[in-house]
Amino acid sequence: MVVGIIGGGASGMAAALAAAENPDIEVLLLERQARVGRKLLATGNGRCNLSNANATVSSYHGETPSFVQYALQKFDVSNTLRWFSDLGLYTVTEQSGRIYPYSDQANSVVDVLRLGLLKPNITVLCGAEVQQIKQDGQGFLLSCTDETYRCDKLIVACGGLAGTKLGGTMSGYKLLGKLGHKSTKLRPSLVQIKSSWPALASLKGVRANCSIQILRDEKVFAKSCGEIQFTEFGISGPVVFELSRDVCSAGGNWTAILDMIPDWSNECLLQWLKVRRETELSVQELLTGVLHNRLGRVLIQSADISMNKKCNELSDYELQNICDCVKRFELTLTEPMGMDSAQVTAGGVLTEQFDEETMESRLVPGLYACGELLDIDGDCGGYNLQWAWSSGRLAGYSAGKE
Ligand SMILES: Cc1cc2nc3c(=O)[nH]c(=O)nc-3n(C[C@H](O)[C@H](O)[C@H](O)COP(=O)(O)OP(=O)(O)OC[C@H]3O[C@@H](n4cnc5c(N)ncnc54)[C@H](O)[C@@H]3O)c2cc1C
Repeated sequence: MVVGIIGGGASGMAAALAAAENPDIEVLLLERQARVGRKLLATGNGRCNLSNANATVSSYHGETPSFVQYALQKFDVSNTLRWFSDLGLYTVTEQSGRIYPYSDQANSVVDVLRLGLLKPNITVLCGAEVQQIKQDGQGFLLSCTDETYRCDKLIVACGGLAGTKLGGTMSGYKLLGKLGHKSTKLRPSLVQIKSSWPALASLKGVRANCSIQILRDEKVFAKSCGEIQFTEFGISGPVVFELSRDVCSAGGNWTAILDMIPDWSNECLLQWLKVRRETELSVQELLTGVLHNRLGRVLIQSADISMNKKCNELSDYELQNICDCVKRFELTLTEPMGMDSAQVTAGGVLTEQFDEETMESRLVPGLYACGELLDIDGDCGGYNLQWAWSSGRLAGYSAGKE
């Protein structure tokens, strides 16, 4: 029996390895790009945050997040790490729960998977983009530009639309759509949020540990805290990524309120500013030592203070303004960046049309799907790859049963 797999990304490779555990199965893995695992190489800033020790259903989103439960239990984090260890990968779990390869190189993850695929019953064809799936009696015909391949069972692991330059594509949604599978609306998630604040360009690359409140039409919509990175167009960083899924997805006026020194109360900061006022320093240096210099200057300018002043020329009123800017800085948000920049696609192929215990289609027997293509997206921190491994292995294991 031949199990065909469309997509040589994280979930497709996991599915191939699981199906091939049955030596009587022939696995045919078709990847449209020149090599397998291209997106994986870019994950975790090149370090590949491949899982998270705290992965549970509560870290996942979609119309039915509980769909992940069975796969996450059957192929849980410890099982995944054992599987990687068997493939030759040594991993490290950070205190936060994030799991990385010991080498700190995404390459290592791709390499052990690629080497694992060198089995007599697995054929990997790169540069093979499946353009059409036709049902053929009990099996499927997969048409690429020059060739057509046949398989008895088929796993669609084409990934989502996010990270377009790394291979994100509509292909999987379209292929499954032609077989009757519906998708929910697709949105970028784990992505920077744009702001119209003009001073952003001068803060590009600056990081700050903030607490952040997101307001929609002046009502608190979400709260979080952690490291924020300012970019040319807006704000970035894990905290922002997590909020990006829902921010600006509906109409209204969206604002971020940043507290740049959340560890200090207003009184404490004001007291500290009063002590600093006793110096002969230029006002530009007032916040030096607590905030990034560029951020400090931008905040002082936002408080309408002339940069030509000396600290000891500041009035109580001006100190209060500076304090307000540091503790409650308002940033107008416009929209999340697009799919190009997103790490994951929110939305996808309706999970209710698949059996969560096998990943098999409820519409087309012998057809399976896994990974980001389905209407499941995880939080920032290794959860999306854990879903790719768990769902891919479940699909491969199920399809590989005679
Ligand atoms: C920049 C970036 C950083 C990320 N960092 C992390 C991280 O650190 N931790 C984490 O958990 N998640 C991370 N993610 C998300 C994670 O990479 C994805 O969720 C995961 O790769 C999804 O796996 P997948 O197999 O479903 O899809 P993919 O890995 O995207 O694989 C799909 C594959 O299918 C191929 N394909 C598509 N259509 C066809 C077709 N018609 N014919 C043949 N082949 C086809 C594609 O070329 C691709 O290789 C990151 C994503 C990005 C973009």
